[in-house]
Amino acid sequence: MLVLGGGFAGVESAIQLRKYGYNVSLVSNRDFLFVYPISIWVPTQKIKFEDVQIPLKTLSRKHGFTLIVDEVKQIDQQNNRVILGRETVDYDFLFIALGMDKVYTKGLEFTHSICGKPAEALVIQEKLQKLVEKGHGKIAIGFGGNPNDPTATGVRGGPAFELLFNISHFLKGKGVRQNFELKFFAPMKEPGKKMGDKPYKKLDIFFKRYKVTPFVGKKIKEFTPNSVVFEDDSHIESDLTIFISGGDGHRVIKESSLPVNPAGFVSINELCRVEGQKNIYAIGDVAAIEGPTWASKQGHIAEVMASVSAYNVHQELSDKGKRKSYWEKLHIICVMDSGDGAAFISRTNHKETIIPLPILGHWLKKAWGFYYKQSKLKRIPRIPGM
Ligand SMILES: Cc1cc2nc3c(=O)[nH]c(=O)nc-3n(C[C@H](O)[C@H](O)[C@H](O)COP(=O)(O)OP(=O)(O)OC[C@H]3O[C@@H](n4cnc5c(N)ncnc54)[C@H](O)[C@@H]3O)c2cc1C
Repeated sequence: MLVLGGGFAGVESAIQLRKYGYNVSLVSNRDFLFVYPISIWVPTQKIKFEDVQIPLKTLSRKHGFTLIVDEVKQIDQQNNRVILGRETVDYDFLFIALGMDKVYTKGLEFTHSICGKPAEALVIQEKLQKLVEKGHGKIAIGFGGNPNDPTATGVRGGPAFELLFNISHFLKGKGVRQNFELKFFAPMKEPGKKMGDKPYKKLDIFFKRYKVTPFVGKKIKEFTPNSVVFEDDSHIESDLTIFISGGDGHRVIKESSLPVNPAGFVSINELCRVEGQKNIYAIGDVAAIEGPTWASKQGHIAEVMASVSAYNVHQELSDKGKRKSYWEKLHIICVMDSGDGAAFISRTNHKETIIPLPILGHWLKKAWGFYYKQSKLKRIPRIPGM
């Protein structure tokens, strides 16, 4: 079994496939799993960059899969092989978990993202620190979408809000909050609405509490070194622009002949099997998620897809009829942290929930980070369904 990608989806599928007793090789161009949900604390120095990583070498030793740190260049499904930077690897079953690329906006290079390359979190930390030392500044944080695939925007607004509120709290702690302008921008009219009507309505309260000025509903024309320019040529000034771009299909997938949706995400069925392919599964952010209009790419969905696909392959190889569908498990869950508290948000077909958790919520998210890392490293038992 060959797994491409060492993020939430890839690692979980390798773990599950090993539990069923298969030989597994995992390819990743990074030698660590990056726990994105807790990376929001790197810019405000609440967590060390190293503590957001789990070494893949340790995971491969603990779970018994073979690790190949290399770049995936091409998927050659006609010949059941994948071409890497240094070698070519054959497979019987392939699990694609390469994550996604970003939608390009003019001047993107003048922005920083918490959802891109892990090291960007450190760049934001350094720039923020410089502004604190200067004693004043303008910070703009926003997110965009992908009109070709609404699931690629989704709750990615969440990290933007988390960063805004965490940075506000951080600046307050440094005694300079009053010297900073914090601005939020997004092209959609109702950013954050995917989390549900209730959480969306509460956002205004958060903006007021953390003194954030919103600029929403205008398309972004371009970024400059010190501004965000909108379609009507109005702009906001910024010394530090953090922008979470909409997700786009992965380059390797776009260059392959695998079936994709208009945004370049791999088309799969409810078993996570790639359309028209017998032995290829696509899981996590790389896959086109089908579901309700609010469905979103999320870490826990990536894990659900990993476990569903591993189960389905095992059932097939064991000649058993039962299969699992990821559709049944589609829901949104997130703990939106603000540095001094958090809000628990969940959305299913039947229910929307938002529970404000002052102080406790922040520690809940920290506890989740601890649980995620330690349970993956087999240092503590896993809680079923988590
Ligand atoms: C800041 C932030 C906060 C978030 N908070 C939450 C949250 O609170 N709750 C939640 O559920 N979700 C959250 N998410 C979403 C969640 O992190 C993602 O949905 C999840 O990481 C997707 O996992 P993945 O394995 O599909 O992709 P990724 O985690 O992106 O992993 C992709 C893997 O593929 C590797 N790779 C990519 N290209 C190549 C290549 N060419 N060759 C070799 N390897 C390659 C990468 O190195 C990486 O190992 C958050 C995301 C961000 C960015």
